[in-house]
Amino acid sequence: MMPLTEFSLIERYFASITQPASPYVDLAIGDDCCLLSIPDTMQLAQSIDTLNANIHFPAEANADLIAQRALAVSVSDLAAMGASPVAFSLAISMPELSEPWLAAFSRGLQQAARHYGIALIGGDTTKGPLSLTLHVQGVVAKGRALQRHGASVGDCIFVTGSLGDAAAALAFMQGQLPVAKSAQQFFKQRYYQPSARVAVGQSLHDIATAAIDVSDGFIADLGHIARRSAVGAVVDVSLLPVSAELQANASAEQALSYALSGGDDYELCFTAPSDKRAQLLELSELIDVAITEVGTIVAGEGVRCIDEQGREIILSESGYQHF
Ligand code: ADP
Ligand code: MG
Repeated sequence: MMPLTEFSLIERYFASITQPASPYVDLAIGDDCCLLSIPDTMQLAQSIDTLNANIHFPAEANADLIAQRALAVSVSDLAAMGASPVAFSLAISMPELSEPWLAAFSRGLQQAARHYGIALIGGDTTKGPLSLTLHVQGVVAKGRALQRHGASVGDCIFVTGSLGDAAAALAFMQGQLPVAKSAQQFFKQRYYQPSARVAVGQSLHDIATAAIDVSDGFIADLGHIARRSAVGAVVDVSLLPVSAELQANASAEQALSYALSGGDDYELCFTAPSDKRAQLLELSELIDVAITEVGTIVAGEGVRCIDEQGREIILSESGYQHF
């Protein structure tokens, strides 16, 4: 093998991830810029996320899992806007040049890129503490993007998949939550291979009034919808979708706390008028993703939680805060 220069590194580990080719990408890796053409009927949706080792993922994790998680987390923002993934750029900072690490990283990235139909079109490679910055781009029909501000009083609140698994997984990996052997793989998968809900987002244009992806914690993220929509939200915690694995491996109270305040689930939370329930049930069956109604939009502000009997529940924390 030739000694690895920056250029051959890019050739060997990144250049092939330009597949799947996108009709919107005219020029990908290899020049000073990439070039894209977006049809007049569409808007370009863009989002950028940085993941720092030991803050946003364990540095010693398998490189292919780090890559898969990084791309899923980034694509989740496109899903939340109802956009279709097109292309992404990757700025990677690495402390050393390890070919086995790069090979595994490249493999994981390729797999996730194929899964989401998104092509790597450029990036930057530098030496430094392990850090990944992904800039994703998608397209959405003009004026149809799902935003955080459209919820109105009387709308129902829905969430995809299940909540709390990723937070439980992190607690497990940090030795704070014992998990039965049979469920360990499930939790690791929920943390490292979250499913960005692209198909759900793409189907919500005529249904949802507001949407967000659950990255910082359900209550915190629903709070963003409430604030941007100038409304309040009431969540019936007995309705929250909690996986059988989480129920089996944590106390009811602990599971509820993960579901309400734990981050990293990358499910979609959205609001819709009550007459869309039937359509949502159909959609859920069609794409095989659970969609659960968990509450109601009300006049006022903030997010309140109630139990089955309608009694208010006071939360000690309202989601992960970075600072
Ligand atoms: P420049 O010095 O002009 O910024 P670089 O040497 O940084 O160019 O990059 C050369 C080409 O390789 C560019 O097209 C750039 O987008 C791409 N590239 C660099 N690093 C990565 C990476 N980690 N992943 C994907 N593409 C990359
Ligand atoms: Mg550069």
